[in-house]
Amino acid sequence: MTHNDISLAMFIIQAREKIGLSSSLLAKRSNLTEEEILDIESGKELFLSSTVRQKLAKGLKINPSEIKSYEKNVEITFGSENIKEFEDIAKIKMMAGETEYLRCPVCGSEMNFKKIKRYDLEDNIVYDYKASCKKCPYQIT
Ligand SMILES: [Zn+2]
Repeated sequence: MTHNDISLAMFIIQAREKIGLSSSLLAKRSNLTEEEILDIESGKELFLSSTVRQKLAKGLKINPSEIKSYEKNVEITFGSENIKEFEDIAKIKMMAGETEYLRCPVCGSEMNFKKIKRYDLEDNIVYDYKASCKKCPYQIT
């Protein structure tokens, strides 16, 4: 089976069943909630934060990079018709500091990423994430 044939959800279920764990047992071993596991296994999560990925890999006794290879590849999957979806994913990826696979959804070029620190009304530090294409006018603000 190639990576394109099976989803992250399928991969996690198969890996879990291979070592004979129920999803609640996997949740316990991974130090994640059962709900988080169910979200991943139902295909709700197409990619994971690095923390969740590492915990899950530990629970499944596999390498985190194996899981990562089944996560939705933004670079390949997102065309310009999916810009809204791309931006939602891009923001989460930027927050996780995982921008290495993000490419401009308009022209496919590399992008510049910026993390901007500001204070909200209650003086808490918050971060804004912005991205702009190195080649075309596309940007996420
Ligand atoms: Zn571009």
